[in-house]
Amino acid sequence: MAITNNEEYQALVAKLNEYAIAYYVYDDPLVPDASYDRLYKDLLDYEALHSNEILASSPSQKVGAGILNTFNAVSHRVPLLSLGDIFSHDELVDFNQRVENLCQQKNIEYCAEVKLDGLAVSIIYENGVLVKAATRGDGKVGEDITLNVKTIKNIPLQLIGKDIPSYLDVRGEVFMPKDGFLSYNEYAKKTGQKVFANPRNGAAGSLRQQDPKITAKRPLAFNAYFVGEVIGGNLPDTQYDRLLALKEFGIPVNTNIQKVVGVSGLAQYYEHIGSIRNSLNYDIDGVVLKVNSLAKQQELGFTAKVPRFAIAYKFPPQEEITTLKDVEFQVGRTGAITPVARLEPVYVGGVTIANATLHNEDEIKRLQLKIGDKVIVRRAGDVIPQITKALINERNGSEKDIVFPSTCPCCGSYIERVEGEAVARCSGGLVCQAQLIERINHFVSRNAMDIEGFGSKYVEALVNNKILTTVADIYSLDENTLATLLLDDGNEERKARLLGSVIAKKLIKAIEKSKHIAFNRFIYALGIREVGEATAYTLASNFKGIKELSTASCDDLLKLKDVGPVVASHIVDFFKEEHNLAVINSLCINEDAPLHLIELEQESNKNAEGSPLLGNTYVITGTLSSMGRTEAKNILQSLGAKVASSVSKKTTALIAGEDGGSKLTKATELGVEILDEDAFLKLIGR
Ligand code: NAD
Repeated sequence: MAITNNEEYQALVAKLNEYAIAYYVYDDPLVPDASYDRLYKDLLDYEALHSNEILASSPSQKVGAGILNTFNAVSHRVPLLSLGDIFSHDELVDFNQRVENLCQQKNIEYCAEVKLDGLAVSIIYENGVLVKAATRGDGKVGEDITLNVKTIKNIPLQLIGKDIPSYLDVRGEVFMPKDGFLSYNEYAKKTGQKVFANPRNGAAGSLRQQDPKITAKRPLAFNAYFVGEVIGGNLPDTQYDRLLALKEFGIPVNTNIQKVVGVSGLAQYYEHIGSIRNSLNYDIDGVVLKVNSLAKQQELGFTAKVPRFAIAYKFPPQEEITTLKDVEFQVGRTGAITPVARLEPVYVGGVTIANATLHNEDEIKRLQLKIGDKVIVRRAGDVIPQITKALINERNGSEKDIVFPSTCPCCGSYIERVEGEAVARCSGGLVCQAQLIERINHFVSRNAMDIEGFGSKYVEALVNNKILTTVADIYSLDENTLATLLLDDGNEERKARLLGSVIAKKLIKAIEKSKHIAFNRFIYALGIREVGEATAYTLASNFKGIKELSTASCDDLLKLKDVGPVVASHIVDFFKEEHNLAVINSLCINEDAPLHLIELEQESNKNAEGSPLLGNTYVITGTLSSMGRTEAKNILQSLGAKVASSVSKKTTALIAGEDGGSKLTKATELGVEILDEDAFLKLIGR
């Protein structure tokens, strides 16, 4: 919304200053960056036309927003400035044109870098020893965070190599890697501590701790991107080579830096980084493009606030504000009740979002959420959209409390919440149709019985028409029943749509095909709580058949590697239930049972036949927090997979722990799938 008069201008300055203090000083933003950026642009547009009205307190006149008194102040010998930013290709063309004009030269060489979303710091080394570190603060004066910075694992306290300058001011970004951010938030939720809204807040909140012992426990990392003042030594005279020189001194530098020429080079780099953004283990909000030659940098110089030789080219935002219209409660296959937020559709992270998971009741309480609230929605990469904050100050009194149901929205059974567990569950078990639908969906799914074409719409219709009451009923379906199945998809015009004979034929064929199935897939299809594909494989390769497995005791199960007490008790409980045994009997034990289970060779023979991972090749990079690489390798091999040391086109997937280096880049270049630690644990059934 453009501003039109001085009154609106003054109000906007006040508002932006309030937002800036919350963001820079308290690391607790009130609005998403995209909202701030839009208002800031309105401010700049107005100031461009009314230069005589510009207030000294306008955010356009300063860098950052001051410092907290709790830290000692440090004056920067060379100011730490911000960057100008652009959001479109046209603006990129303009930027390059300006540089070309000022330098009176075409085909300018740039050093292109990722724009890490963290916190700028300056680290001073005297004769190779880290002596001081400070935040950017207002650009001239920052906060002394030396002790905290010293706890960051990848920052050297003593430089190595030759020609170390007697004085070196290294500028760079402290950030929280994505995996560290996720695991820290998990831990914070469990221990009732403050959860960070995004990795940038995580980095800022962790770095500006009074007690360095707390900072030391936080997963922080550093990448250098600039040299401030330097005395002595023999540093090269381009930005790119200087970064390489810093690396030689043992200072971490991002691996995605690149020399490029002209607009096409810059645009290609922007596209490339945009395409690998989600696979990086750190958040970036754009790329930074710097004229490579230091001589030219000096020629171009600075405006009051930003350098003329560099620009931040930002990506579309991953956070936006929208309204929470309603909360619905979904029932999963194990009866878990999940609240789902229905949102006013909003474009964020490259897609339009209308729903977001709220996980459980505790999450709703933690967010202090009400229906009608303005909320911040975050969608980073392929992660499920999340509500990270309710804008409580924006309430107008019409918001309504969210009432967690005490009975199942599907079957009306009582909802139980086991002490110490976050998840509430419907106690309806067999009578709950929602659970039944989800159980059948799981049973027919690709990695389970793999009944091709058996979509959830058909499952729903078959359950609603009481044709399917257990998974065993699938094998009594006939072509005629299926062909005449009425599909009510809510569309009035198509009310009387039948499934039809063509699809019916195909389904019957697919059902037929699923009758010969590997034992491990069948176990997985049963949907026993916390029994993933890898655990199912372990069970199948340690028990000869379903009868042996169904009578196994907890002690028997605990002897198996990868089976802990919780999983063991879920398995035993599952086979204790009469109705589960009845389904298993009719599926594969009774004389006329339809299924023929293909047994696996037993563990003692160490043969991984039938494993979903069999024949796949994985490469592991970086550090995994839950186990060493050797252990990860052993598990993969026990599941029939190969583990290679380098990435090639033949690699099935790269398992990327923290700080994955060149392998990560290579995998991205080759389009090889990248699994983070969570995905890897899921793969092996942990
Ligand atoms: P900026 O974040 O747009 O860019 C400058 C910063 O980029 C540098 O200080 C440095 O920390 C960082 N950076 C990362 N990688 C770099 C690299 N390779 N080379 C150089 N610098 C690199 O500018 P800013 O002044 O720090 O802050 C403006 C940002 O803060 C905007 O995105 C704005 O949305 C956000 N902000 C948000 C709020 C809010 O309320 N949400 C309030 C104020 C500011």
